[in-house]
Amino acid sequence: MITALACILMNSTPTLNIEDLAKQVDEKRLRATVEKLASWPNRNTNNPTLTEAADWIAGEFRQIPGIEVEIMKYEIQKGQRVPETKEVVQVIATLPGTDPSLKAHRIAIGGHLDTINMGPEGISGKAPGANDDASGVAAALECARILSQQKFKRTLHFIAFSGEEQGLLGSTALAKRAKAEAWNIDAVLSNDMIANSQNKRGDKEANAVRVFSEETETHEGRELARVMEFLQRESGSKHRINLVFRRDRFGRGGDHTPFNREGFTAIRVVEQHEEYSHQHTDQDLPEFMDWRYHGENTRLNLRMLAHFANAEAAPTQVRVDRRQGYESRVTWKGNAGQEYRVYWRLTTSPTWQGATTVKGLEALLPKYHKDDYVFAVSAVGGVPIVAE
Ligand SMILES: [Zn+2]
Repeated sequence: MITALACILMNSTPTLNIEDLAKQVDEKRLRATVEKLASWPNRNTNNPTLTEAADWIAGEFRQIPGIEVEIMKYEIQKGQRVPETKEVVQVIATLPGTDPSLKAHRIAIGGHLDTINMGPEGISGKAPGANDDASGVAAALECARILSQQKFKRTLHFIAFSGEEQGLLGSTALAKRAKAEAWNIDAVLSNDMIANSQNKRGDKEANAVRVFSEETETHEGRELARVMEFLQRESGSKHRINLVFRRDRFGRGGDHTPFNREGFTAIRVVEQHEEYSHQHTDQDLPEFMDWRYHGENTRLNLRMLAHFANAEAAPTQVRVDRRQGYESRVTWKGNAGQEYRVYWRLTTSPTWQGATTVKGLEALLPKYHKDDYVFAVSAVGGVPIVAE
């Protein structure tokens, strides 16, 4: 009897099984979303087709219990790819956090809804944008469908940006608004082209995806990318993250950058091999997508969102004891009753080489000499803070 009661009590606060959630990612649903979005002749931000597609995706989000949907309006100014100044829309779906002290913290995933044809037909040209970037929008929708079945401490945003192809206009409008309204954004995962696994030259990579990140004084994009790579490896998935320590590809941009500029931690997820002849043309079609690859990239995102949104409060004042000695002692401020993760890597290693979970506010690491290693500490599932 006592055992049965203990079980019931334990079940009353179930721990989140992230891999069970990741298994729910459905490649058929991803495909259906991409095919629907690609059925508009284009989704150019200047055209009514963008508004129609935004209404459709907003309707999909509205069907998910617990999700709140905002159609955000902003103005695009007449310019190189904007024939006339006008008000346009983008979609922000929200799963509110449930922890009173953490729900003001936000974690976001986004893709851009808009497409472009860079050929002579201009804004009326066919631009199905299956990969660029219905694939990113579909990943956000799929994550919302699955994660909404759970409660998370932090608030999750699922975003379908517009104005990306006119110069990151929608993400800039949102990042500036977030700054002005003092949003507390812990992480933005911008997914832009995540469903194509090969190019016409013959390069194929269906088991890895790139994450681009910057290192600056004003945000932790690099640390976000680094912990994503570690958490993905730790999940046991065979699907790898290849880190690229750059803002983005040469001559190209993405919706993570406006967030970085406003001081928010953000990275870009993008396929390993791009097929340039399919980009910004009438050839960006669903038939060229690799749905299994799209599924793995969506699972990766879902894992990260679940980790970050469920993390307890982050530690502060993470320090290495600088006194001479054989052992490394890392300390931090926080909640002594809480579990934290301590990470380490050689100063020459771009990736975390190990981590341990400890309860309390310090860790002793006898095998990793502070002169040779970098340490960092996070709440379990959170973005680590590098020890000074
Ligand atoms: Zn794009």
